[in-house]
Amino acid sequence: KFVPVPKFAVLGGKGIYMTTILKVENLTKVYGQGEASVTALKQVNVAFESNKITVIVGTSGSGKSTLLNLIGGLDKNATGSILLGENNLLKLGDSELARIRTRKIGFVFQFFKLIPELTAKENIILPAMIDKRKLDDTSLSELTDKLKISDRLSHYPSQLSGGQQQRVAIARAIINEPDILLCDEPTGNLDVASGKEVMELLIDSCRQMGKTVIIVTHDANIAKKADRIIRIEDGSIISDTVNE
Ligand code: ADP
Ligand code: MG
Repeated sequence: KFVPVPKFAVLGGKGIYMTTILKVENLTKVYGQGEASVTALKQVNVAFESNKITVIVGTSGSGKSTLLNLIGGLDKNATGSILLGENNLLKLGDSELARIRTRKIGFVFQFFKLIPELTAKENIILPAMIDKRKLDDTSLSELTDKLKISDRLSHYPSQLSGGQQQRVAIARAIINEPDILLCDEPTGNLDVASGKEVMELLIDSCRQMGKTVIIVTHDANIAKKADRIIRIEDGSIISDTVNE
């Protein structure tokens, strides 16, 4: 049974009603078994409001990618719950999870993960083709205009700079109009200048489109542009602050 994402209203910090889109409860993740086991997340509780940009920071190995992969339905081998609307992602069957992932969630990774044999345009429209969605050229060109890659669509990934490749990957993540965009160190493989440009375009276009965005990053400047900063250490959330 596929349940669309309902919007629960919750009272926000300043007495404003906000809408929770995603709720993580008592999330615990253990890799491996016995003496070799690693507890990567320890009873994590956190909720995300729609249309907000959240940054997750923390040292390497603190559990950031583990959390993002679980939220995005790339892994469901954990205890607790991850509620996207009425669906607990940890309890869904593989095909339902894949369907929610395609429709509701976009991913941007550190190493772009573009398909080298496809042009930029083909890479971008692939998720829509997989989801058998009709794409109109206007929405595609609006998106590629926003991300400043419209003049690069017939290029192959190897003919693009790192920053351009990542902007193609962002367009691919957004093309199916997901509610939630998850970005795991999206500028980690870029030089400072192109990282800054990619991040500004990412944040500006997501604000315009009203997306819920969660970005894992080391960059303190990005954290300043976010609505909220969550710090993870050793599998636990140690601070959670809202930017004024
Ligand atoms: P971060 O993204 O913050 O660097 P991760 O979520 O990747 O951290 O890792 C959290 C912890 O889980 C680390 O101790 C890491 O070594 C461990 N870990 C991550 N992935 C695996 C895996 N596939 N198998 C075993 N341990 C893992
Ligand atoms: Mg990581």
